[in-house]
Amino acid sequence: MNRSQFELAKPILERLIQHGYEAYFVGGSVRDFIMNRPIHDVDMTTNATPDEIETLFEHTIPIGKEHGTINVVWNHENYEVTTFRAEAEYVDHRRPTEVYFVRDLYQDVERRDFTMNAIAMDIHYQRIDHFEGERDIEQRMIRTVGDAKTRFDEDALRILRGLRFKSQLGFTIEDATFEAMSHQMADLEYLSIERIMNELRLLVNGAYIAETLPLLHSLQMWRYIPYFRDIDVETMVLNTPIDIESFLAILSYRTDHQAFKPLKLSNVQVRTIQTLVSAIQSAQTIATRTQLQQFVYDFGIDVALKINALRPVLEDNQIHIASPVILNGAIIQNVWSDLPIQSRQDLAIDGQLLMQAFQLKGGPWIKEVLRRVECAVIQRQVNNQTEAIIEWVRTHVKIS
Ligand code: ATP
Ligand code: MG
Repeated sequence: MNRSQFELAKPILERLIQHGYEAYFVGGSVRDFIMNRPIHDVDMTTNATPDEIETLFEHTIPIGKEHGTINVVWNHENYEVTTFRAEAEYVDHRRPTEVYFVRDLYQDVERRDFTMNAIAMDIHYQRIDHFEGERDIEQRMIRTVGDAKTRFDEDALRILRGLRFKSQLGFTIEDATFEAMSHQMADLEYLSIERIMNELRLLVNGAYIAETLPLLHSLQMWRYIPYFRDIDVETMVLNTPIDIESFLAILSYRTDHQAFKPLKLSNVQVRTIQTLVSAIQSAQTIATRTQLQQFVYDFGIDVALKINALRPVLEDNQIHIASPVILNGAIIQNVWSDLPIQSRQDLAIDGQLLMQAFQLKGGPWIKEVLRRVECAVIQRQVNNQTEAIIEWVRTHVKIS
């Protein structure tokens, strides 16, 4: 097992302990460590209060101080150190109204979602496992800490997290946990779309998405999430993990539904999805090398390769792009490096030069002519040289 990340963070726990506090590693990193999976964030928990944590370390950032989380910057790395806390009353099936700090580790792990996420580990790699999380990891089982119904009632995001962990880890959801999940799916309606999308992003990209997606369909999960509730997601098949933008692109292509607004995606995400949708469309009509050149030029190498990589998923969903004889990774690379220009910036002419050459004012004609020129250059009907292009335009394009 790879201890290196814990070793790097260990001095933080040691300093807390030297000052008389209890301090442990906890959460996803301990779970992943036990499973011998790659560890990302090493999270720590302590009975020191946020103020006390701040006085012990030179460089801290109060990222979630009111909830007990302080970022400790150690050797240029950020570590989240969270005070043992319990959660007061929940309203509206999401996040507690109040948290309060406690001095006892048990209370802290008791409020965590699943047994596999409630294991603490000390600096000697000894585990404190109040809810038999290690047994559940061994049995590959997702089980809530305490009564599933109550825990999902408190925070419906846990339902989605449970499904997300199934998709990432391939575990079975324990019976009572699954039973509660299936009865409480409708509570997803209480959650903010940001929290939902964050889980969905991880979920569709999970190694075990192939077996998890049918489960989501049968739980009728999509009925409770904006955007998805309006379209047919149930017929979607995923045999391999996929990024959320590709997932949404395929869905919106299939259903012709691009009203993503309720999902509160970033502008970059929306643009990525729109590009993918038009690339999926174009990739179906490529039949010649010229068309392939145009496709690779219009979308760029990265999108072209991505569409090619998505081929199996597209096929599984009855979208048939050009055959691998015409469209494959090697040919795309080849076409790309052979292109006389790779973007409009490479063109030896621009709007200014056109206006001068033809003694005309600016207007929509410029855009049209530039597009014609672009295509002609790519198809090697004209060399990418200013004079040659002007001459070609004179003889080939009727400027209106
Ligand atoms: P990942 O490996 O994806 O980071 P994680 O389990 O570490 O998974 P985080 O969102 O980083 O998930 O949360 C850290 C820990 O906080 C979890 O392991 C769990 O103990 C606890 N936790 C997170 N979200 C909830 C929740 N909604 N309800 C209860 N406990 C939670
Ligand atoms: Mg984590």
